[in-house]
Amino acid sequence: MKRILAFIIMIFSVFSFSSCSDFTRQVTRQSFALDTVINITTDEKDQGKIGEAFSLCNEYEKVFSRTDSESELYLLNNGQGELTEDIENVLEFSIEMARLTNGAFDVTVAPLVDLWNVKERKAPPSGDEIEIAQSKVGYEAISISPLSFNGKSVDLGAVAKGYIADKIADFFKSNGVENAIIDLGGNVVLIGEYSVGIRSPFNPDEIFATITLKDKSAVTSGAYQRYFEYEGKRYHHIIDPRTGYPSDSGIASVTVISPSSMQADALSTSIFILGKDAISLCDKFPDTDALIIMENGDVITTENFEKKYQLKK
Ligand code: AMP
Ligand code: MG
Repeated sequence: MKRILAFIIMIFSVFSFSSCSDFTRQVTRQSFALDTVINITTDEKDQGKIGEAFSLCNEYEKVFSRTDSESELYLLNNGQGELTEDIENVLEFSIEMARLTNGAFDVTVAPLVDLWNVKERKAPPSGDEIEIAQSKVGYEAISISPLSFNGKSVDLGAVAKGYIADKIADFFKSNGVENAIIDLGGNVVLIGEYSVGIRSPFNPDEIFATITLKDKSAVTSGAYQRYFEYEGKRYHHIIDPRTGYPSDSGIASVTVISPSSMQADALSTSIFILGKDAISLCDKFPDTDALIIMENGDVITTENFEKKYQLKK
């Protein structure tokens, strides 16, 4: 049974259904956790499980938050606590991604993320400040066994939401849920088949294209999600550790589709930083594709994307 549902992949906003037909009633509930708006949809009969999924999000916040002084990651960043299975899983994968991207994806980027602080800043930091923060970044210093951050500060903001979305999907599937949309601020996992709208990076209230996905995750990284503007230039939240500045690869947004939301999350951030040629990174992961919208409006996709996902513009 096909469900027609258009929603908008974005961060910090409520998504909207455009049409639903020929299926059992679905219920959407909204919450705020993981520093973002969370929307979860299931069949009406499964709505009782949505609350449990929200509880899972709150539990994972206590693992991955970088600001909550009781979280596992906070303690590790401060030389305390122990490595738990969740952090180990995400950290191991993140180091693999750092190697694969020659350090463009680097979860030790926290000093630069804090310096740029795009939620509050009104003007860019100085070159000296950037250089100092940049010198504190470097995933090579991290050791998992034996555990040592070696003074580095880890930010899992580019990958943890994907990991958590996968865990919620696992919870739903092992509890008999056959249809669901798990949307953690634009980090989306679908159980069942849905038609999904990709937001225009140029006019984020508009849908740029729709695609049809079944049992897949779709994750978008875009310059329109978090940013400030100074003297006509946009400074966004995805930092290129090689320059110390928000990445400037000519990509306006990239949406990655994969059976694994953690992989889609890390890949969308990585491709966004590295630029359009890095779309080939998708080949290194099973059944993984991407759609890039360039700042000049060009659209680049992996092979057979249009047919595979019934792309409609
Ligand atoms: P996303 O929205 O998934 O593309 O991830 C962006 C978030 O990841 C930022 O808000 C930072 O917390 C973090 N981040 C920024 N730059 C990098 C980078 N080069 N490597 C890894 N994480 C990053
Ligand atoms: Mg990401």
